[in-house]
Amino acid sequence: MFDSHCHLHDERLYAQSAQVIVRAQQAGLSGLLLAGVDAQSWSRQDRLHKQWDGPSFSIGVSYGVHPQVIPSLSDVQLDDQLGMLRRAALGQLAIDGSTLRAAHAIGELGLDAYTESTRQCLPLQERAFRSQLALSRELDLPIVLHILRTHPAALRILRSDGLPRAGGVVHSYSGSAELCRQYVALGLSISFAGGVTLANAPRLWAAAQVVPAERLLVETDAPDQTPLELRPARCEPAFLPAVIGKLAALRGETALAIAKASEENARRLFRLPMPAESSRSG
Ligand SMILES: [Zn+2]
Repeated sequence: MFDSHCHLHDERLYAQSAQVIVRAQQAGLSGLLLAGVDAQSWSRQDRLHKQWDGPSFSIGVSYGVHPQVIPSLSDVQLDDQLGMLRRAALGQLAIDGSTLRAAHAIGELGLDAYTESTRQCLPLQERAFRSQLALSRELDLPIVLHILRTHPAALRILRSDGLPRAGGVVHSYSGSAELCRQYVALGLSISFAGGVTLANAPRLWAAAQVVPAERLLVETDAPDQTPLELRPARCEPAFLPAVIGKLAALRGETALAIAKASEENARRLFRLPMPAESSRSG
């Protein structure tokens, strides 16, 4: 199993990241991708990578400026972060005396119209989105998209500007089956988080049924989005089997088949080699 999107670098999890990673391994995970939020998160992601990435457990790092961070940034501060992002992605940015490893992906990037404060800065969000999209094409790195309540606008930008050849993933997918088909037609993968386990999410369940097997990813989005059956615990990567179990039921497949396919899909997308045989348990 591979958690395609989590935030162990989030301050709610960072202090316990060692125990959280051990529990993820015990649950059968072979790796995870740390999704970037802002320049502060990138250095914590890099530290987690240096500490935990190895032959039997993979830690991928994605650097980006998250759409929900944009309301707190001025135009100039955004330009600063985007300039730093380019160097970080290339493995040329030093923070606190340590050079960050190069990125496996760019993101989170995208558009968010979920709250009043994000809605008010959509033009600045769009600028950040297009700039990071251009960087991903230039460096040919896959993208980790965060798109919330702005699917038509996001699709318009993705179509007009173009994707990196490396492709990308729509994380914590929240749209309809019809929109899902449009993202897939663009070449993107679709990742489902704990939202799919909710008691009444028929739109999301329909979307989960139309994703081709080779484009399906799974994630916990930890520390957010705890699967229904595990609430009220704080979400962590060890909870990934609950998301996989629900997808298996919705798609009429076994949990093992979903676990295996989604791991291969994530590793192919982020260019992370399969782990050493000894750590694989089927
Ligand atoms: Zn996220």
